[in-house]
Parts: sequence; structure tokens; C-alpha cells
Amino acid sequence: MENIKNYINGNFHNPISNDWIDNYNPSNGNVYGQIPNSSKDDVENAYIAAKSAFPSWSQTTLEERSRILLKISEGIEAHLDELAQAESKDNGKPISLAKAIDIPRASSNFRFFGNAITQFASESHESAGQNAINYTLRQPIGVVGCISPWNLPLYLFTWKIAPALAAGNCVVAKPSEVTPMTAYLLGKICNDAGLPKGVLNIVHGLGTTTGQAIIEHPDIKAISFTGGTATGAHIAKVAAPMFKKLSLELGGKNPNIIFADCDYEDMLATSVRSSFANQGQICLCGSRIFVEQAIYEKFKVDFVEKVKQLKVGHPSESTTNIGALVSKPHLEKVKSYIDIAKKEGGTVLCGGNEVTVSGYENGYYLEPTVIEVTSDECRVNQEEIFGPIVTIMPFKTEDEVLQMANKVKYGLSATLWTNNLKRTMRLSSQIHAGIVWVNTWLMRDLRTPFGGVKASGVGREGGFEALRFFTEPKNVCIKY
Ligand code: NAD
Repeated sequence: MENIKNYINGNFHNPISNDWIDNYNPSNGNVYGQIPNSSKDDVENAYIAAKSAFPSWSQTTLEERSRILLKISEGIEAHLDELAQAESKDNGKPISLAKAIDIPRASSNFRFFGNAITQFASESHESAGQNAINYTLRQPIGVVGCISPWNLPLYLFTWKIAPALAAGNCVVAKPSEVTPMTAYLLGKICNDAGLPKGVLNIVHGLGTTTGQAIIEHPDIKAISFTGGTATGAHIAKVAAPMFKKLSLELGGKNPNIIFADCDYEDMLATSVRSSFANQGQICLCGSRIFVEQAIYEKFKVDFVEKVKQLKVGHPSESTTNIGALVSKPHLEKVKSYIDIAKKEGGTVLCGGNEVTVSGYENGYYLEPTVIEVTSDECRVNQEEIFGPIVTIMPFKTEDEVLQMANKVKYGLSATLWTNNLKRTMRLSSQIHAGIVWVNTWLMRDLRTPFGGVKASGVGREGGFEALRFFTEPKNVCIKY
């Protein structure tokens, strides 16, 4: 059994209440370890450690903070194999994906913010005619909370922690209870890198116990959260009366809009990836595919043929394209949408069934599924499924597809496939989304703002946006 512990004040602790949760391996359905279900008392200890570390960490020079963050980045790189294996086992994602994307990106997050903090500057405003100068301090907030989901565990956990630490805050962080393992391993890497005790504290447990204790804590002044929209709404409700600073990165139901003038082969290969990468469990996946009428029938045939070639298999196999879904309840939720689609008159063009992987019969495997729908208003086209299911339907005009793209409660990302420049400019400015990709998908430059509109969230991560979130501006006006 691989049991994990809380990382508080640089040491590893069992939960005070001795309350534990089973940790499942999605590839075979077995319990392979236990994780603390931390109570308010554990969160309080994490808070006390963070509070004690804050005066010194916030006064540590930028060069020194940067040096330590770069060492953490190197530590993650040095443990690439171990971390990738742990991530794949915990989450069900193919090991190839964890090795090529998840863990390298976690390392990049620390490297990026370790460097970014040395370039971060604040503004000054000279008040002409009044003999005054204003300068704006950007001060760390204090103790902040970071809460992350299970789909890209270490990748998203570090995406919050790295800027929070770089900006001089101390952190109480909670990874998803569904995928806690790499966050646990990060604690050891931080110690080896020389991160002072208490600067980062990692508490494990359920959202309703441990997460709730973090968001309710009156002295944890800011919450950076990535997860579901309903949880985000709950956090906003709890945090608002305490006037906490909030960054909420929530769900998505993103359109993938394909025009007949696109580079067809590139579009086809990328659309398979944007539909099914990580078993479709990426908030940015293009799960609603709209195809211009002129190429709709061709696309349908070619896309289905390519999707049928994807191999569902054990995450550790190098030939596996689609691993296991993250948990049994999530598999059941995703599957329920196939029945909903059928009842709504959708046609399953391929997939739709659970897969039994030989030797791992109790794993949570599902075929990649393509559903042709006749209306963009059906539930499978409106609700976030967060699994290997996409809908496809044709459109006739730019106006029509714009209406359909925007007619959802979410607004995280959108993908456009076209070589028409004016259309690109028109649609990019009119689509309700925080991120628009044109002729590509999930191409990331960490300096750019990342986040969504409408029910996809509030605030932006990435680059200086994240450093601004994790600092309080204070204006100083001097008359001379
Ligand atoms: P979730 O909302 O169930 O859980 C996310 C985290 O919040 C977990 O750590 C959980 O324990 C915690 N939590 C739950 N209840 C809480 C509470 N009452 N107080 C404090 N914390 C609480 O989401 P999930 O199922 O882990 O992740 C899937 C969702 O995340 C999807 O909706 C997906 O779109 C979204 N997501 C968004 C982005 C983005 O950048 N916008 C990225 C990845 C995932």
C-alpha cells in the first residue's frame, strides 16, 4: 500500500483525526493506498506554519526566491520517470502523456515563474502640474490557498503554487483527493531544493472537509481554484463575505469550428487530439464540433475512421492512446450521457461502450465516442461531460455557427479552422471565450492570459496576470 501524508512545515504528518480515504488505481479498479482526510485542525496547522514562514519568505530577495523555484523545477525534471509513473497510476492517463506533457509542464511552471518574478515590475504615474509622483507597490498577500482538480494533477497544482510562491506568499494547497500522489512527491522535491519550512504546505482530503476548511479560513486571504463550475460557485459564496481575492478556473464546453477552407489534414489530426487527449478530460477539449456543410459528410467519414484507430488500453502500454477514466463514479457519469444522447435523438457514429482490457477487467475504460446531433441545444451539446465523447453537427453560415458557439453557459476556449483572415478576425472577437485557437489547439505560451468567461470562471492565470493576482497593489503618492 502506498500511503501518503500531509506536508506541513517541511515535515510529513498523518492526519490528526486519523481519518483516511482510499486511493484507487483507475487502470484496474484496485485500492492501492490511503490518503489523509484532513480536518480543520490539520488546515490550521498548515496555516500556522505558513503564517510563521511569511515574514522571512516575503522579504527573501527575488534572486533567492527565483533560485529556489528553479531548483524545484530541476528536481521535478530529475524525477520525471517516477512522477510520470505516479501520475499515470493515480489518474489512468497514458504514461506517454504524463511523460511528454504533464510532468515537463509542471517543471516549466516553476521555471517560468522563477524567471518571471525577476522581470515583474510595477507602474509609476507622474502627476503633471501637481508636483507629485505615484508609484504602485505590488506586495504579497500573505497566506493563500490553492485548490486543484484531478485531470492534470501536478500540472495544474504547480500552475498555482509557482506564481504564489514567486510573488512572496506562503501557501496552503490541496490537490484533488482523486489524484493526490504527485502533490505528495512534490513536498520531498521542495525540501531537497531548499524551500524553507512552512512556505508551502500540502494538505490532503475531501473537498467538503479539507477544501472547505481552507476556503472558510478567515486568514487565508486569497483562493486560487481550478475545478467544476458548481464548486466554484460554492467557493465564491463562502469567500465573498470575507472579501477574499478569488481566481476561479472552471468548466468548459468548447466549440471546435471547422470551415471548408481549412488545411484539412492538419485539422483532422488535431481535432482527434482536441477531442480525446487525456480521455477527453481536459477543460479545453473541443467537445462540440461544428463543420461547414460543404465538407460535413467527408469529415464525418474521415473523423470516425481515425477515432476508431485510437487504441484504448492500459496506461502503461506505450501503444495506448486512450487510458482509463479517472474514477468509477466519473465513468458512470460520462456513460450516462451516451444514454441521454440516444434519448434525445443523437446517433452514435462510433464508440459508446465500455472496454474490457485483458488482465485489467475492473478498470474504467470507455471507447472514444462520436455522436451526431441534430440540434445544438440538446443536453450532450450543452452540458460539460468531461470524457471521451464529442458531438458533431453541420452548419451553413458563419452567423449560424457563431450563434451556436455562444449559446452555452460556458466560455473557456474555442478553436477555429479556416484560412480566411477576415473571418478569423471577426469570429475571434465575437466568440464568448477567454482563449481562441486558430488552426491549432492547446498551443501554450505561459506568458499569455489563461481563463474563461461566463460560467467558465473569474480572473486569469498565466504570466504577469498570475503575479498580479497573487499580489496586492498599493499606491503611494508623494508630493514634492
Ligand atoms: P471539483 O470541483 O469536483 O474539484 C476540484 C477541487 O476542489 C478538488 O480538489 C476538490 O477536492 C475541491 N473541492 C470540492 N469541493 C470543495 C469545497 N466545498 N471547498 C473547497 N474545495 C472543494 O472538480 P474536479 O471534478 O476535480 O475537476 C473537473 C472540473 O475541473 C471540470 O469541470 C473541468 O472543466 C474543470 N477544470 C477547469 C480547468 C480550467 O482551467 N478552467 C482546468 C482543469 C479542470
